[in-house]
Amino acid sequence: MDMESPLTCLKGVGPALARKLEKLGLFCVEDLLFLLPLRYEDRTQLVKIGAIVAGSRCLVSGEVLLSETVYRGRRNLLVRISDGSGQLTLRFFHFSRQQQAQFHAGTAVTCFGEVRRGSAGFEMIHPEYRILRENQEAATADSLTPIYPATEGVQQGRLRNLTDQALRFMQETPPVELLPAHVTTRLGMPSLAAAIEYLHRPPPDADVQQLLHGRHPCQQRLAFEELLAHYLSLRRLRALAQTEDAPALTGGEPEVGRFIDDLPFELTRAQQRVIKEILADLSAPHPMMRLIQGDVGSGKTVVAAIACLKAIACGVQAAIMAPTEILAEQHWRNFSAWFRPLDIEPAWLSGSQRAAARRESLQSIADGAAKLVVGTHALFQEGVEFDRLGLVIIDEQHRFGVHQRMALRDKGVSEEGHPHQLVMTATPIPRTLAMAAYADLDTSVIDELPPGRQPVSTIAVPDSRRGEIVERVRSACASGQQAYWVCPLIEESELLDYQAAEASYQMLTEALPDLHVGLVHGRMRPAEKERGMQAFKEGLIQLLVATTVIEVGVDVPNASLMIIENAERMGLSQLHQLRGRVGRGSRQSHCVLLYKPPLGRIAKERLAVLRDTNDGFIVAQRDLELRGPGELLGTRQTGLPDYRIANLVRDAELMPQVQVTAETMRTSSDTNAVAIVRRWLGDTRKYGKV
Ligand code: ADP
Ligand code: MG
Repeated sequence: MDMESPLTCLKGVGPALARKLEKLGLFCVEDLLFLLPLRYEDRTQLVKIGAIVAGSRCLVSGEVLLSETVYRGRRNLLVRISDGSGQLTLRFFHFSRQQQAQFHAGTAVTCFGEVRRGSAGFEMIHPEYRILRENQEAATADSLTPIYPATEGVQQGRLRNLTDQALRFMQETPPVELLPAHVTTRLGMPSLAAAIEYLHRPPPDADVQQLLHGRHPCQQRLAFEELLAHYLSLRRLRALAQTEDAPALTGGEPEVGRFIDDLPFELTRAQQRVIKEILADLSAPHPMMRLIQGDVGSGKTVVAAIACLKAIACGVQAAIMAPTEILAEQHWRNFSAWFRPLDIEPAWLSGSQRAAARRESLQSIADGAAKLVVGTHALFQEGVEFDRLGLVIIDEQHRFGVHQRMALRDKGVSEEGHPHQLVMTATPIPRTLAMAAYADLDTSVIDELPPGRQPVSTIAVPDSRRGEIVERVRSACASGQQAYWVCPLIEESELLDYQAAEASYQMLTEALPDLHVGLVHGRMRPAEKERGMQAFKEGLIQLLVATTVIEVGVDVPNASLMIIENAERMGLSQLHQLRGRVGRGSRQSHCVLLYKPPLGRIAKERLAVLRDTNDGFIVAQRDLELRGPGELLGTRQTGLPDYRIANLVRDAELMPQVQVTAETMRTSSDTNAVAIVRRWLGDTRKYGKV
């Protein structure tokens, strides 16, 4: 038997149990060592009944005083025990005749369970219990009891037994230490075997609070290695990409220079710096893989346009993909206006396009007549053939994970190699999280807003004061401004969203008969949506009622007031994105967060963060702390891995050290790097997936 042996080589594991264990991701003996407890219970000492507190889980021992069945809707078995310091009731809803008979007066029993306050003093419902024989001492555990992640049909006792076997085996054959010795020494980390042993069977004097919060040095030791594994694997993807070919885009300087000169504004220094980084990448014969981060309104679109122009001037096609139709359409309009003087007409591709228009687009994309293509996901579906795709830009990319990034890149492969890839995110990502989630990309940050922007002033108002706010909209619009009225996202349901927006639209048209009020929501046909947006942009509509479809990217500089209904239901980053739709012109803008009281603690904190800062990076950091990385990067689709022990928020401070360690291992071609990735991320043999 070795660490890689299948679990069936352990005592008590047959094929049926092995299949259940697979559901927990357990395939071999070593996997058991890395199945870490979720929490611990303290059964190392008996607690005096007189000293127990409600809510705690503890081990007590006592003598049965009386046992009786009572009828409370159904039959309950109540067993009153005492240890001389106090009395406790054990309550059972399900019990057999034998069980009932066990508890005769005078019997000694130990039990473990959660203490709660019952009608007649403290009680435990369905405790784990053991009847003691005469003169038998109540047994206490030698170490804290680990509670493992459960899967159906595998009891905790079974998991403890299996990990016992694996731990015994580990004593003869400890797992290979893969971290460089200088790192473990410098960071004062315990050895891998010691850490594993400790976490599975912590001694009675272990600091349970520290363990529960994942702060124990043994946990940090494993978290470090896991973060390192993920980081190394992303860097390896990155290195692989670097060995691939891409068209080296040299030339085009006059076109780019002229375009910049003709812009109605000066590029900010941050924009200039990022453009320089992109142009340098594009001139290399390997695919660019760059992430641009920039707060809302920092001017990412024009940076993308310059990248496209460079590609086109060098004779390849550029494609830009946006996550929603509204945003794609807006890009299409912007790019058309910018590029028309240069005789470049972007092609359009979206899912809802008519067949004839689509055919025409596909044709021009395939024969190369279309130098630039703008669209939604439809851009990369079956049947789209490019003539010479050289640059792919993905806007608002935080909704895509690493696998989607890779897939997109592969779509564009030709004899000339892979296209260059630029991804833009509007949600700033805290540095340590970006390190962990985007280590396969180079990063540029536009950390400056165009001059003259004034921070949006934000207030939170209970929705009982809706009338006042409607009044405020009236007077703002009367003075030539425009406003958004954003309706809540209701449990991700498009239908309910739409109904809420409809209702607000009705209310507002009635309350504001002098205003032109428009409505845009996700259920409208694209052309309708487009008409609504366009009318708002041209000022024909003064108040736009919308669902969160306008969340990203929409750019109407004259809009300076935003009302967000049910703001308490939305995430911080989403609110910040929405708020970013105003404050784009030179006028002082306002954002009103309407909420339904009473606010919970987290909701209160969220709204306070927005009131206090306009800095997207601070908002993102707080969002990360409040909701965790999955939510921040966009639920589910992020492709963020499930960590077994590391937590990107809690362990963020490990990231810089992880990065340094990884880079050192890579430059010194440390062969352990591969082994670490394999240990934590598995390989195809072990997990049967690619
Ligand atoms: P985001 O980074 O949120 O995508 P946009 O690219 O939509 O921002 O830019 C927001 C607005 O700022 C647009 O109206 C754009 O034309 C304008 N803009 C971009 N760069 C500058 C600049 N350097 N000076 C002034 N305005 C700019
Ligand atoms: Mg944008």
